Amino acid sequence: MNKGVIARYRGRLPVSDKTPVVTLCEGSTPLLRADLLAAAVGLREGSVYLKLEGMNPTGSFKDRGMTLAVSKALEEGSQGVVCASTGNTAASAAAYAARAGLRCIIFIPKAGVAVGKIAQALMHGSELVEVRGNFDKAMTVSLSRAAELGFTVVNSVNPYRIEGQKTAAFEVAEDLGAPPELLFLPVGNAGNITAYWKGFCELGGRRPRLMGYQAAGAAPLVLGRDVEDPKTVASAIRIGKPLSRAGALAARDQSAGLIDSVTDAEIIAAYRLLAKAEGVFCEPASAASVAGLLKCRREKVPLSGRIVCVLTGHGLKDPQTPMRFKYRPFKER
Ligand SMILES: *Cc1c(COP(=O)(O)O)cnc(C)c1O
Repeated sequence: MNKGVIARYRGRLPVSDKTPVVTLCEGSTPLLRADLLAAAVGLREGSVYLKLEGMNPTGSFKDRGMTLAVSKALEEGSQGVVCASTGNTAASAAAYAARAGLRCIIFIPKAGVAVGKIAQALMHGSELVEVRGNFDKAMTVSLSRAAELGFTVVNSVNPYRIEGQKTAAFEVAEDLGAPPELLFLPVGNAGNITAYWKGFCELGGRRPRLMGYQAAGAAPLVLGRDVEDPKTVASAIRIGKPLSRAGALAARDQSAGLIDSVTDAEIIAAYRLLAKAEGVFCEPASAASVAGLLKCRREKVPLSGRIVCVLTGHGLKDPQTPMRFKYRPFKER
């Protein structure tokens, strides 16, 4: 039975017998073979896999880090948690805080948070504050509010978030019997790429090359400078000033990987391909990983060994994006 990532990886996480475990049975997500996608990039069957992080309790990988961050906040006697969020951190923080009986204050950018995520945060009883401006502005406001109240910040600046998220690397290596050669993932605040790298390093042995993808309109790590007004359809990675910049660059360099960008058109093409050809509905930001794989194929980057694309969040989070596509109902008869 899945009892959550703290129970599964207790020995590799900073917890003790005194840590109250706040879990929704996150983690242990499927690693799905994707043969049609493999064929699309010229590889044989059984070489491409999708890590379905949308199957976590609140629909994104954020739950892996949140179980640990909220458990530790409770252990340390905190009265509440605070975060800034493009949506999934909000949904996750709200759910875990509800379960822990902690107050949860969330700062979201006024424009561009997917409706499913807002619905989750509301249902779990968090206090939602809209900030005029983008995520980076919301982050600044959130940090000062947390300091005023003495609440715990549960953004990925909280080291327990990274600790919890590294468990995804353990699962991938266990499911394949060894780490993959290449691991593709979207990059926003860059906590996740930092966490995967930490996980693979702790496992020891051969480590994958980490292939991180930002959206072209929100690609500070590719451009080498902050982006003041980040723009992309992929709201979960619409971030101009990544919190874990240093971790991302270290993961890229130490793994001989790369951090590149993909356009919104490429993201949407991958998003639709996954849904139609593989039966997997992820949110737009998640499809950046697969868009990156397809871009490598076009640019003739050598691809070999086993490849994992991380699909970070569920498609149902964002029901509005698909509605923009041409929809033709069958005639009534
Ligand atoms: C948070 C998130 C990302 C980006 O992860 P970072 O750790 O910020 O780089 C990507 N996709 C989804 C669905 C997310 O929720």
